[in-house]
Amino acid sequence: MRGPETPPRILIVDSLGQPVRWAALTRAARYYASGKVVHDLGDTRFSMSGGLQELSGERSCVVSSSIVMIRGRHRSPSRGHVGLSKYRLFARDRQICAYCGSHCSEADLTVEHIHPVSRGGRHEWTNVVTACRSCNTRKGSRRPEEANMPLLYVPYAVCRNEGFILSNRRILADQMAFLQVSLPRHSRWAQG
Ligand SMILES: [Zn+2]
Repeated sequence: MRGPETPPRILIVDSLGQPVRWAALTRAARYYASGKVVHDLGDTRFSMSGGLQELSGERSCVVSSSIVMIRGRHRSPSRGHVGLSKYRLFARDRQICAYCGSHCSEADLTVEHIHPVSRGGRHEWTNVVTACRSCNTRKGSRRPEEANMPLLYVPYAVCRNEGFILSNRRILADQMAFLQVSLPRHSRWAQG
C-alpha cells in the first residue's frame, strides 16, 4: 500500500508523444544525465537532492518535468495490449458495481466474468466488469440474462493510453490531460 507521501512518478513519452513508462524520479534523472531528454512537456517540476559533489562539496540537485519526452521512437512488443489486472479493472469501472451501481472500496469489489469462466467465458477486458461481493455471489455462474441482472454499463477493452492512466493511482493533472487527449469517446476516462 502506497501512502500519501509516495513520490510522484514521471511520465516518459517517446518522440511521437507515445507513452513509454512511468518512471521514478531517479530514473528520469538518468535520462536527463545521459542527454536523452528532448523536451520537458509537463507543468510541474520536481527536484531531489543527489550525491555530494566531489569538488565543491555541495549537494547536486536533480530536476525533472512531470512529463518528459525522450529521443527516439519507442516500440513495445505488446503495443496496444494492456494487461488485465483487478486494480486496473476497478479503476476502469470507477469502482462502481455493474449490477447495483453502488460505489465500493476495493476490498468490497470483485472481478466479475459476465459470461462465466466455468461455462467457457474468457478472462478478457470485454468479458469482465467490476461487481460488489453480494452481486457477484447472487449472480453465481449464470449469465446476466439468466440471473435477471442487466448490466448498468458496457465493458470495453482498454487502449494503451488509458492503461497508463489506470496504472498510476497518483496521477497529476497535467499527466492526466496529456493521456486523455487520444482516448476513444467510449472510455470512462475520456474528457467531456
Ligand atoms: Zn452490486
